[in-house]
Amino acid sequence: MRPRVVVIGAGFGGLNAVKGLRDAPVDVTLVDANNFHTFQPLLYQVASAGLDVDDVAYPVRGIFRRQRNVSVRMARVTGFDLDARRVVVDRGDPLPYDYLVIAAGAVSADYGVPGVREHAFPMKSVDDAVRLRRSILDRLERVAAGPDAPAEGELSVVICGGGPTGVEVAGALQELFDKVIARDFPRTEVAMIDVTLVEAADRLLGTFSHLSSGRALRTLTRRGVAVVLGTGVDHLTAEGVHLADGRFLPARTVVWAAGVTAGPVAAESGLEQARGGRLVVGSDLSVPGRPEVFAIGDIAAAAGDDGQPLPQVAQPAIQGGRHVARQITRRLDGLPGVPFHYHDKGSMATIGRNEAITELPFGVRLWGFVGWLAWLGLHLIQLMGFRNRANVLVNWAWNYVTYDRGARLLAEADREDP
Ligand SMILES: Cc1cc2nc3c(=O)[nH]c(=O)nc-3n(C[C@H](O)[C@H](O)[C@H](O)COP(=O)(O)OP(=O)(O)OC[C@H]3O[C@@H](n4cnc5c(N)ncnc54)[C@H](O)[C@@H]3O)c2cc1C
Repeated sequence: MRPRVVVIGAGFGGLNAVKGLRDAPVDVTLVDANNFHTFQPLLYQVASAGLDVDDVAYPVRGIFRRQRNVSVRMARVTGFDLDARRVVVDRGDPLPYDYLVIAAGAVSADYGVPGVREHAFPMKSVDDAVRLRRSILDRLERVAAGPDAPAEGELSVVICGGGPTGVEVAGALQELFDKVIARDFPRTEVAMIDVTLVEAADRLLGTFSHLSSGRALRTLTRRGVAVVLGTGVDHLTAEGVHLADGRFLPARTVVWAAGVTAGPVAAESGLEQARGGRLVVGSDLSVPGRPEVFAIGDIAAAAGDDGQPLPQVAQPAIQGGRHVARQITRRLDGLPGVPFHYHDKGSMATIGRNEAITELPFGVRLWGFVGWLAWLGLHLIQLMGFRNRANVLVNWAWNYVTYDRGARLLAEADREDP
């Protein structure tokens, strides 16, 4: 029997691990709770009605249709028997393995802030993005239907967390309100809409240079987003956001983009966890004491050459996936493992139409339209499958020329109240 490889998670890490095993003499089972891969960097476009769900999600079975050594299982991993080398799933028999790759990603972290779970929208899955879009559109329709002026905060949006996700959501929602909703709802309601971005640190985009942070702040402010820096969120209620400095921001829509923590699979595995719940891994990305188990991507505490934990972004997951595929192949050939070296390809954040911040290695910075073109090109290249790429391109081109957003339909099942 050929060695069995189980890969948990069809995110950037898992997909690249499986693809890297294409020619290896192994049988791979890829297990994911969903039957699709989510391109998380574009979720904010779904939330702001720029793209639809199938522009950013792609069926896993379709991706591996031509790779003969892969079988796909849609199931949630619920437990591990590491000694017996089996993974327990919520549907079907446990999955036995000779090699295991844990690539189950991260989940939104509330950092114990009261009210986040009850009152905020996370931004981590297609469901999160669709729920936010639906809630905003439905609230607007209800206000437009009612005879009274909207209550305080009824149409206000507060985004908590000024990292790339928070900046992108704030820029995209402001653009949606200014360019699309203002024309859809020409009466009074639009004057009541406002977008506020809250960041506990004293600057936005803390992992970027100070110059880029300043640029992001200036651009968002110019476009109408109110930015609150230097104060954290104390707690949330149904009425709004209470800041640590005592201020209150009335808002019925709160987006929580303050950070992530390793997914529950990390704790369920019983393996050693580091800061943020991430699984401890050795230099070759295998788990200490379990050479047959690897962890990659957001769920792993892999370190860069400087010894610091790698950021929870797509490239460490992609490169980690390719690396573990090579390690498994080397083991099968009787060769020793080699350490993982991460190649930093830079960071990007878009602030809306015509404006993105791209920081490349060696201090190269692309801002404004050039940065935006670089961002757009890279995301299109990375998107799975030709159909998605064509869809996204058409939608973007249409939005760009007409300032229209196609993905703002409210199906009956989408409405919050009867
Ligand atoms: C809104 C947003 C915007 C982002 N923007 C950028 C960006 O611009 N650039 C960038 O580089 N990075 C960005 N990131 C981060 C990037 O998306 C992640 O770092 C990357 O997806 C991590 O890949 P991964 O394979 O580790 O995990 P993921 O891509 O999260 O995949 C994990 C997979 O595991 C599955 N899974 C989880 N638990 C289970 C279980 N119990 N059983 C079975 N399956 C399970 C999930 O369904 C999922 O498919 C963004 C993230 C978000 C949320």
